[in-house]
Amino acid sequence: MKKDIHPDYKTCAVSCACGNSFETKSNVETMRIDICSACHPFFTGEQKIVDAAGRVEKFKAKYAAASK
Ligand SMILES: [Zn+2]
Repeated sequence: MKKDIHPDYKTCAVSCACGNSFETKSNVETMRIDICSACHPFFTGEQKIVDAAGRVEKFKAKYAAASK
């Protein structure tokens, strides 16, 4: 590796919206994430709607209004 051009590679504390937290390595010290391997549907096998901005509710309201 070339000297003095690489960012610091340090331990990074990751906290997920589901409450899970773990450590990894990165060039930032902390990360806040919305989904992790403990709550991602691929790993849990459960169906889950990842909806941070209320878009599903918005669509349902729009769909209900349109079908009247
Ligand atoms: Zn999670």
